Amino acid sequence: MVKTVKFGGSSLASAEQFRKVKAILSRDADRRYVVVSAPGKRFRGDDKITDLLYRCQALRAEGRSFDAEYQKIAERFIGIRDGLGLDLCIEAELDEIRSRIDAGTTPDFAASRGEYLNAKLLAACLGFDFLDATEFIRFRDDGAFDDDATVLRANALTAHARAVIPGFYGRQRNGLIRTFSRGGSDITGAIVAKCSESDVYENWTDVSGFLMTDPRIVPDAKVIETVTYSELRELSYMGATVLHEDSIFPVRKARIPIHVLNTNDPEAKGTMIVPDSMATDKEHTRPITGIAGRRGYTVITLTKDNLHNDLGFSYRLMGILARNGISAERMPSGIDTISLVIDDKRLTGKMDQLYHDIMIECSPDTVEIASCIALIASVGIGMARNPGVAAKLFTALSDADVNARLIDQDSNEMNIIVGVEQRDFERAVEAIYRAFA
Ligand code: ASP
Repeated sequence: MVKTVKFGGSSLASAEQFRKVKAILSRDADRRYVVVSAPGKRFRGDDKITDLLYRCQALRAEGRSFDAEYQKIAERFIGIRDGLGLDLCIEAELDEIRSRIDAGTTPDFAASRGEYLNAKLLAACLGFDFLDATEFIRFRDDGAFDDDATVLRANALTAHARAVIPGFYGRQRNGLIRTFSRGGSDITGAIVAKCSESDVYENWTDVSGFLMTDPRIVPDAKVIETVTYSELRELSYMGATVLHEDSIFPVRKARIPIHVLNTNDPEAKGTMIVPDSMATDKEHTRPITGIAGRRGYTVITLTKDNLHNDLGFSYRLMGILARNGISAERMPSGIDTISLVIDDKRLTGKMDQLYHDIMIECSPDTVEIASCIALIASVGIGMARNPGVAAKLFTALSDADVNARLIDQDSNEMNIIVGVEQRDFERAVEAIYRAFA
């Protein structure tokens, strides 16, 4: 079995954290490819190395001194090395990076050095090979990730029995270092898992998996043990913060499960994200896997007598939206009504024009605009096989005195969306959670 493991910034923020990582790796010889983030925060208010590196580059670009910031970076890496008692000279590398920033390097190069040095330290600490991400992770010169070119170089990775690889960056064709967007070491982990044909991609963080709902609303929310890729997509789209969005696609396509685990509590089961076909019957019968939601929607409801016989109505409406550059999140419809659920951010400065176009081109009998709406998605693949899920959900809402302003269910029966007044949002989420947890 081959496992790719990725450790986030807080898992590698200090020598003490490195020791935990070493213990985790020594427990399982299948953990062969290790992707690292730069050192993160050790405590609230602490600096992330990546932020400091960006700041150094920005200060230099403004012609200001970056000595104080760079000092903190150097101290952190030297502190980790000395704390681990490693016999590794990083001073020359630190000097070299400093001169590159001084000479006016790019933000991407500066930021990438956090992962680079951390990978060097961890490789020395574990006795694994260090493999630079530039050896196989390729970007096009316009900055887009080049999947084909990367896959072609997969043997640069598999030539190593065990290796530590810096996350977050790769190399453009023209030789320049390029980073993914922030949090992008998750993406590197997924690419490494795919290129090494790993059986599992372990993503080690500082939480014991994904919670069924937002703990700020339900402090005792349970951990989700298994979630399918499709369920995860629905939940993260509705605001559940999970892994970097782009880190899902490479492994999902390669049908590799992701196991989210906690470096500070390695015995905890964590959350398994599995391809839909790998979910067991037990998971299929569980009606709701997670509940996520977001505030800040407007619902525009149009009514028109005999609307369902007006063949071009929806077509004209879609045309208006497209022309105004607005995408509607949902479009629940009735016989003589159609509603547009739109994220407020997408409507900013566009409402008047949209209203005008709708009146002229669709001639509805009435238009009702409701703002301050929150959407709540209750997601679960087991829903399709469980009659009575909707009844239970709406009973819970009514018992909590929440009025559902809008209801929409995906045709794949995996997601029931309810729109509520924003002031009822927390109460509604908690009521649904208690009914299904
Ligand atoms: N160090 C980078 C960041 O802070 C990438 C990562 O940690 O995933 O965004």
